[in-house]
Amino acid sequence: MPGDEFDIIRQHFVRQPVVREDVLLGVGDDAALLLVPAGAELVVCMDTLVAGVHFTATTPAAAIGHKALAVNLSDLAAMGAEPAWATLALTLPEHHPVWLADFARGFFALADHYHVQLVGGDTTHGPLSVTVQAHGFIRNGKALRRHGARSGDRIYVTGTLGDAGLALQLRDVANEGLRKRLDYPLPRIEAGLALRKYASAVIDVSDGLLADLGHLLEPDELGARIDIDALPHSAAFLEAIEQPGPGPHPPYYELPLSAGDDYELCFTVPPPHCAMMEQRLGMLACGCTAIGVIEQQPGIRCHHRDGSDYPPASHGYLHFLDE
Ligand code: ADP
Ligand code: MG
Repeated sequence: MPGDEFDIIRQHFVRQPVVREDVLLGVGDDAALLLVPAGAELVVCMDTLVAGVHFTATTPAAAIGHKALAVNLSDLAAMGAEPAWATLALTLPEHHPVWLADFARGFFALADHYHVQLVGGDTTHGPLSVTVQAHGFIRNGKALRRHGARSGDRIYVTGTLGDAGLALQLRDVANEGLRKRLDYPLPRIEAGLALRKYASAVIDVSDGLLADLGHLLEPDELGARIDIDALPHSAAFLEAIEQPGPGPHPPYYELPLSAGDDYELCFTVPPPHCAMMEQRLGMLACGCTAIGVIEQQPGIRCHHRDGSDYPPASHGYLHFLDE
Protein backbone atom coordinates (compact mmCIF):
# COMPACT_ATOMS: atom_id res chain seq x y z
CA MET A 1 0.00 0.00 0.00
CA PRO A 2 2.67 2.64 0.81
CA GLY A 3 3.69 2.70 -2.86
CA ASP A 4 0.05 3.14 -3.86
CA GLU A 5 -0.58 5.91 -1.36
CA PHE A 6 0.74 8.73 -3.53
CA ASP A 7 -1.12 7.37 -6.56
CA ILE A 8 -4.35 7.31 -4.57
CA ILE A 9 -3.88 10.85 -3.31
CA ARG A 10 -2.87 12.16 -6.75
CA GLN A 11 -5.68 10.36 -8.59
CA HIS A 12 -8.54 11.03 -6.21
CA PHE A 13 -7.81 13.80 -3.75
CA VAL A 14 -5.60 16.46 -5.33
CA ARG A 15 -7.92 17.77 -8.02
CA GLN A 16 -11.15 18.94 -6.45
CA PRO A 17 -14.03 21.26 -7.19
CA VAL A 18 -13.38 23.84 -4.46
CA VAL A 19 -10.36 26.16 -4.35
CA ARG A 20 -10.53 28.65 -1.47
CA GLU A 21 -8.51 31.81 -1.06
CA ASP A 22 -7.99 31.12 2.64
CA VAL A 23 -6.01 27.96 1.78
CA LEU A 24 -2.38 29.01 1.41
CA LEU A 25 -1.24 25.41 1.07
CA GLY A 26 -3.51 22.39 0.65
CA VAL A 27 -2.98 18.71 -0.15
CA GLY A 28 0.61 17.79 -1.04
CA ASP A 29 2.98 19.28 1.53
CA ASP A 30 3.75 18.07 5.04
CA ALA A 31 0.84 20.08 6.39
CA ALA A 32 -1.76 22.58 5.26
CA LEU A 33 -1.49 26.35 5.79
CA LEU A 34 -4.84 28.00 6.46
CA LEU A 35 -6.04 31.54 7.16
CA VAL A 36 -8.74 32.12 9.78
CA PRO A 37 -10.60 35.41 9.14
CA ALA A 38 -10.00 38.23 11.64
CA GLY A 39 -12.74 38.35 14.27
CA ALA A 40 -13.65 34.68 13.84
CA GLU A 41 -13.17 31.59 15.96
CA LEU A 42 -12.12 28.31 14.36
CA VAL A 43 -14.71 25.55 14.94
CA VAL A 44 -13.26 22.02 14.67
CA CYS A 45 -14.95 18.61 14.85
CA MET A 46 -14.19 15.01 13.86
CA ASP A 47 -16.16 11.84 13.24
CA THR A 48 -15.21 8.31 12.17
CA LEU A 49 -17.22 5.81 10.12
CA VAL A 50 -16.11 2.19 10.60
CA ALA A 51 -17.06 -0.61 8.19
CA GLY A 52 -19.51 -3.03 9.79
CA VAL A 53 -20.40 -0.50 12.48
CA HIS A 54 -21.52 2.68 10.72
CA PHE A 55 -22.13 1.23 7.26
CA THR A 56 -22.34 -2.22 5.67
CA ALA A 57 -20.82 -4.02 2.70
CA THR A 58 -23.82 -2.99 0.60
CA THR A 59 -23.55 0.76 1.37
CA PRO A 60 -22.52 2.50 -1.87
CA ALA A 61 -19.02 4.02 -1.75
CA ALA A 62 -20.47 7.38 -2.83
CA ALA A 63 -22.78 7.30 0.20
CA ILE A 64 -19.84 6.59 2.53
CA GLY A 65 -17.95 9.56 1.05
CA HIS A 66 -21.00 11.78 1.41
CA LYS A 67 -21.88 10.67 4.92
CA ALA A 68 -18.34 10.91 6.29
CA LEU A 69 -18.37 14.62 5.44
CA ALA A 70 -22.08 15.15 6.17
CA VAL A 71 -21.93 14.00 9.80
CA ASN A 72 -19.13 16.48 10.42
CA LEU A 73 -20.90 19.33 8.65
CA SER A 74 -23.90 18.51 10.85
CA ASP A 75 -21.73 19.17 13.93
CA LEU A 76 -20.62 22.49 12.43
CA ALA A 77 -24.28 23.31 11.72
CA ALA A 78 -25.15 22.65 15.37
CA MET A 79 -22.54 25.25 16.36
CA GLY A 80 -23.88 27.80 13.88
CA ALA A 81 -20.57 27.66 12.01
CA GLU A 82 -19.86 28.34 8.36
CA PRO A 83 -17.93 25.36 6.89
CA ALA A 84 -14.52 25.97 5.30
CA TRP A 85 -12.10 23.04 5.24
CA ALA A 86 -11.87 19.30 5.82
CA THR A 87 -9.15 16.71 6.32
CA LEU A 88 -9.64 13.02 5.55
CA ALA A 89 -8.00 9.94 7.11
CA LEU A 90 -8.71 6.88 5.00
CA THR A 91 -7.81 3.35 6.05
CA LEU A 92 -8.27 0.96 3.12
CA PRO A 93 -8.01 -2.84 2.98
CA GLU A 94 -7.01 -2.77 -0.71
CA HIS A 95 -6.44 -0.40 -3.60
CA HIS A 96 -9.79 -0.45 -5.37
CA PRO A 97 -9.86 2.37 -7.95
CA VAL A 98 -13.59 2.13 -8.72
CA TRP A 99 -14.54 2.22 -5.03
CA LEU A 100 -12.21 5.18 -4.46
CA ALA A 101 -13.59 7.09 -7.45
CA ASP A 102 -17.16 6.60 -6.18
CA PHE A 103 -16.15 7.53 -2.64
CA ALA A 104 -14.46 10.72 -3.87
CA ARG A 105 -17.48 11.59 -6.02
CA GLY A 106 -19.82 11.40 -3.01
CA PHE A 107 -17.40 13.32 -0.79
CA PHE A 108 -16.69 16.12 -3.27
CA ALA A 109 -20.30 16.60 -4.37
CA LEU A 110 -21.18 17.61 -0.82
CA ALA A 111 -17.90 19.52 -0.33
CA ASP A 112 -18.65 21.48 -3.50
CA HIS A 113 -22.17 22.32 -2.34
CA TYR A 114 -20.89 23.91 0.88
CA HIS A 115 -17.68 25.32 -0.60
CA VAL A 116 -15.51 23.09 1.59
CA GLN A 117 -11.94 22.42 0.46
CA LEU A 118 -10.14 19.18 1.35
CA VAL A 119 -6.78 20.41 2.61
CA GLY A 120 -5.03 17.23 3.73
CA GLY A 121 -5.32 13.83 5.28
CA ASP A 122 -3.71 10.46 5.71
CA THR A 123 -3.99 7.24 3.74
CA THR A 124 -3.20 3.93 5.41
CA HIS A 125 -3.66 0.20 4.93
CA GLY A 126 -6.02 -1.75 7.22
CA PRO A 127 -9.70 -2.51 7.89
CA LEU A 128 -11.93 0.01 6.08
CA SER A 129 -12.51 3.14 8.12
CA VAL A 130 -13.02 6.80 7.25
CA THR A 131 -12.29 9.74 9.55
CA VAL A 132 -13.10 13.30 8.57
CA GLN A 133 -12.23 16.44 10.45
CA ALA A 134 -14.17 19.53 9.48
CA HIS A 135 -13.28 23.16 10.16
CA GLY A 136 -15.52 26.19 10.08
CA PHE A 137 -15.78 29.76 11.28
CA ILE A 138 -17.99 31.57 13.72
CA ARG A 139 -17.85 35.25 14.70
CA ASN A 140 -16.13 35.70 18.07
CA GLY A 141 -18.42 34.64 20.90
CA LYS A 142 -21.36 33.75 18.64
CA ALA A 143 -21.19 29.93 18.66
CA LEU A 144 -24.39 28.01 19.46
CA ARG A 145 -23.88 25.55 22.27
CA ARG A 146 -25.61 22.66 24.00
CA HIS A 147 -26.19 24.69 27.11
CA GLY A 148 -28.07 27.96 27.36
CA ALA A 149 -31.71 26.78 27.31
CA ARG A 150 -34.07 28.33 29.90
CA SER A 151 -37.35 27.15 31.40
CA GLY A 152 -40.16 28.29 29.08
CA ASP A 153 -38.04 28.15 25.88
CA ARG A 154 -39.81 26.35 23.03
CA ILE A 155 -38.20 23.16 21.66
CA TYR A 156 -38.00 22.68 17.88
CA VAL A 157 -36.54 20.25 15.36
CA THR A 158 -35.68 20.82 11.71
CA GLY A 159 -36.96 18.48 8.98
CA THR A 160 -38.38 15.08 9.96
CA LEU A 161 -37.36 12.40 12.47
CA GLY A 162 -37.22 8.61 12.40
CA ASP A 163 -36.49 8.19 8.70
CA ALA A 164 -32.95 6.85 9.03
CA GLY A 165 -33.98 4.58 11.91
CA LEU A 166 -36.83 3.10 9.90
CA ALA A 167 -34.57 2.64 6.87
CA LEU A 168 -32.19 0.61 9.08
CA GLN A 169 -35.05 -1.63 10.23
CA LEU A 170 -36.54 -2.08 6.78
CA ARG A 171 -33.19 -2.81 5.14
CA ASP A 172 -34.64 -5.22 2.61
CA VAL A 173 -37.72 -3.17 1.81
CA ALA A 174 -37.36 -0.87 -1.18
CA ASN A 175 -38.13 2.62 0.01
CA GLU A 176 -35.90 5.09 -1.82
CA GLY A 177 -36.92 8.04 0.33
CA LEU A 178 -35.95 6.39 3.62
CA ARG A 179 -32.81 4.81 2.17
CA LYS A 180 -31.64 8.20 0.99
CA ARG A 181 -32.11 9.71 4.42
CA LEU A 182 -29.89 6.99 5.93
CA ASP A 183 -27.18 6.99 3.26
CA TYR A 184 -27.13 10.66 2.24
CA PRO A 185 -28.06 12.73 5.30
CA LEU A 186 -28.25 16.48 4.61
CA PRO A 187 -26.41 18.64 7.13
CA ARG A 188 -28.63 21.56 8.21
CA ILE A 189 -25.98 24.21 7.63
CA GLU A 190 -28.37 26.98 6.50
CA ALA A 191 -30.60 26.36 9.53
CA GLY A 192 -27.60 26.51 11.88
CA LEU A 193 -26.48 29.81 10.38
CA ALA A 194 -29.97 31.28 10.70
CA LEU A 195 -30.35 30.06 14.30
CA ARG A 196 -27.41 32.17 15.50
CA LYS A 197 -29.88 35.02 15.86
CA TYR A 198 -32.61 33.15 17.73
CA ALA A 199 -31.59 29.89 19.47
CA SER A 200 -30.61 29.57 23.13
CA ALA A 201 -29.17 26.04 22.66
CA VAL A 202 -28.65 23.67 19.70
CA ILE A 203 -27.61 20.03 19.19
CA ASP A 204 -27.71 17.79 16.13
CA VAL A 205 -29.78 14.61 16.40
CA SER A 206 -27.32 11.78 15.77
CA ASP A 207 -28.26 9.39 18.58
CA GLY A 208 -32.03 9.92 18.77
CA LEU A 209 -34.17 12.83 19.96
CA LEU A 210 -34.50 11.77 23.61
CA ALA A 211 -30.79 11.07 24.00
CA ASP A 212 -29.69 14.26 22.27
CA LEU A 213 -32.32 16.47 23.90
CA GLY A 214 -31.05 15.00 27.17
CA HIS A 215 -27.64 16.51 26.39
CA LEU A 216 -29.29 19.94 26.04
CA LEU A 217 -31.04 19.61 29.38
CA GLU A 218 -28.29 18.07 31.54
CA PRO A 219 -25.85 21.00 31.71
CA ASP A 220 -28.55 23.29 33.14
CA GLU A 221 -30.43 20.54 35.07
CA LEU A 222 -33.60 21.28 33.13
CA GLY A 223 -36.49 19.11 31.94
CA ALA A 224 -38.75 19.04 28.89
CA ARG A 225 -42.33 18.31 27.89
CA ILE A 226 -42.68 16.82 24.40
CA ASP A 227 -45.90 16.64 22.38
CA ILE A 228 -45.55 13.21 20.78
CA ASP A 229 -48.27 14.02 18.22
CA ALA A 230 -46.25 17.01 17.00
CA LEU A 231 -43.14 15.00 16.02
CA PRO A 232 -42.59 15.57 12.28
CA HIS A 233 -42.78 12.51 9.96
CA SER A 234 -41.73 12.47 6.30
CA ALA A 235 -44.06 11.28 3.53
CA ALA A 236 -41.68 8.34 2.97
CA PHE A 237 -41.95 7.43 6.67
CA LEU A 238 -45.75 7.49 6.65
CA GLU A 239 -45.89 5.50 3.41
CA ALA A 240 -43.57 2.82 4.82
CA ILE A 241 -45.47 2.32 8.05
CA GLU A 242 -48.76 1.92 6.17
CA GLN A 243 -47.41 -1.13 4.32
CA PRO A 244 -48.82 -4.46 5.53
CA GLY A 245 -46.44 -6.54 7.63
CA PRO A 246 -45.18 -6.82 11.20
CA GLY A 247 -44.26 -3.12 11.32
CA PRO A 248 -41.24 -1.58 12.97
CA HIS A 249 -40.22 -2.09 16.55
CA PRO A 250 -40.45 0.08 18.62
CA PRO A 251 -43.82 1.20 17.22
CA TYR A 252 -43.45 3.82 14.52
CA TYR A 253 -44.66 6.71 16.63
CA GLU A 254 -41.79 6.13 19.04
CA LEU A 255 -39.11 5.81 16.35
CA PRO A 256 -38.65 9.59 16.04
CA LEU A 257 -37.85 9.65 19.76
CA SER A 258 -35.36 6.82 19.87
CA ALA A 259 -33.79 6.38 16.44
CA GLY A 260 -30.63 8.24 15.51
CA ASP A 261 -28.86 9.10 12.26
CA ASP A 262 -31.35 11.73 11.07
CA TYR A 263 -28.88 14.61 11.54
CA GLU A 264 -31.61 17.16 12.07
CA LEU A 265 -31.05 20.03 14.52
CA CYS A 266 -32.89 20.11 17.85
CA PHE A 267 -32.91 23.58 19.38
CA THR A 268 -34.54 25.85 21.92
CA VAL A 269 -35.82 29.38 21.34
CA PRO A 270 -37.00 31.97 23.91
CA PRO A 271 -40.72 32.75 23.27
CA PRO A 272 -40.14 36.36 22.11
CA HIS A 273 -37.96 35.08 19.21
CA CYS A 274 -40.20 32.16 18.14
CA ALA A 275 -42.31 33.95 15.52
CA MET A 276 -39.32 35.49 13.74
CA MET A 277 -37.37 32.23 13.91
CA GLU A 278 -40.32 30.24 12.49
CA GLN A 279 -40.64 32.70 9.64
CA ARG A 280 -36.91 32.54 8.88
CA LEU A 281 -36.62 28.72 9.02
CA GLY A 282 -39.89 28.38 7.13
CA MET A 283 -38.02 29.80 4.15
CA LEU A 284 -35.63 26.81 4.17
CA ALA A 285 -36.43 23.48 2.53
CA CYS A 286 -36.09 21.62 5.86
CA GLY A 287 -38.44 23.94 7.79
CA CYS A 288 -38.91 23.43 11.52
CA THR A 289 -41.54 22.08 13.90
CA ALA A 290 -42.34 23.05 17.50
CA ILE A 291 -42.37 19.85 19.57
CA GLY A 292 -42.39 20.96 23.19
CA VAL A 293 -41.20 23.27 25.92
CA ILE A 294 -38.34 23.44 28.43
CA GLU A 295 -39.39 23.02 32.06
CA GLN A 296 -37.63 23.52 35.40
CA GLN A 297 -38.30 19.95 36.61
CA PRO A 298 -35.54 17.60 35.30
CA GLY A 299 -36.53 14.68 33.04
CA ILE A 300 -38.33 14.35 29.72
CA ARG A 301 -42.13 13.95 29.83
CA CYS A 302 -44.10 13.04 26.71
CA HIS A 303 -47.78 13.75 26.17
CA HIS A 304 -50.44 13.63 23.48
CA ARG A 305 -51.90 16.74 21.92
CA ASP A 306 -55.07 16.32 24.02
CA GLY A 307 -52.91 16.58 27.14
CA SER A 308 -52.95 12.90 28.18
CA ASP A 309 -49.62 11.43 29.27
CA TYR A 310 -47.63 9.28 26.93
CA PRO A 311 -47.16 6.49 27.65
CA PRO A 312 -50.26 6.21 29.90
CA ALA A 313 -49.32 5.97 33.58
CA SER A 314 -50.53 2.31 33.67
CA HIS A 315 -48.10 1.41 30.90
CA GLY A 316 -44.99 2.67 32.61
CA TYR A 317 -42.27 3.18 30.06
CA LEU A 318 -41.76 3.88 26.43
CA HIS A 319 -41.34 0.62 24.49
CA PHE A 320 -37.71 1.12 23.59
CA LEU A 321 -36.82 1.76 27.22
CA ASP A 322 -38.36 -1.63 28.10
CA GLU A 323 -35.91 -3.58 25.96
P1 ADP B 1 3.37 12.89 5.55
O1 ADP B 1 4.13 11.61 5.35
O2 ADP B 1 4.23 14.11 5.53
O3 ADP B 1 2.41 12.84 6.67
P2 ADP B 1 1.65 11.91 3.56
O4 ADP B 1 2.54 11.17 2.62
O5 ADP B 1 0.87 11.15 4.55
O6 ADP B 1 2.49 13.06 4.24
O7 ADP B 1 0.63 12.79 2.71
C1 ADP B 1 1.09 13.59 1.63
C2 ADP B 1 0.11 14.70 1.42
O8 ADP B 1 -1.14 14.16 1.01
C3 ADP B 1 -0.17 15.52 2.66
O9 ADP B 1 -0.39 16.87 2.25
C4 ADP B 1 -1.46 14.92 3.20
O10 ADP B 1 -2.20 15.88 3.92
C5 ADP B 1 -2.15 14.53 1.91
N1 ADP B 1 -3.05 13.37 2.06
C6 ADP B 1 -2.76 12.11 2.40
N2 ADP B 1 -3.83 11.31 2.40
C7 ADP B 1 -4.87 12.10 2.05
C8 ADP B 1 -6.26 11.89 1.85
N3 ADP B 1 -6.84 10.69 2.03
N4 ADP B 1 -7.02 12.94 1.48
C9 ADP B 1 -6.47 14.16 1.32
N5 ADP B 1 -5.18 14.43 1.46
C10 ADP B 1 -4.38 13.41 1.82
MG1 MG C 1 5.77 14.80 6.22
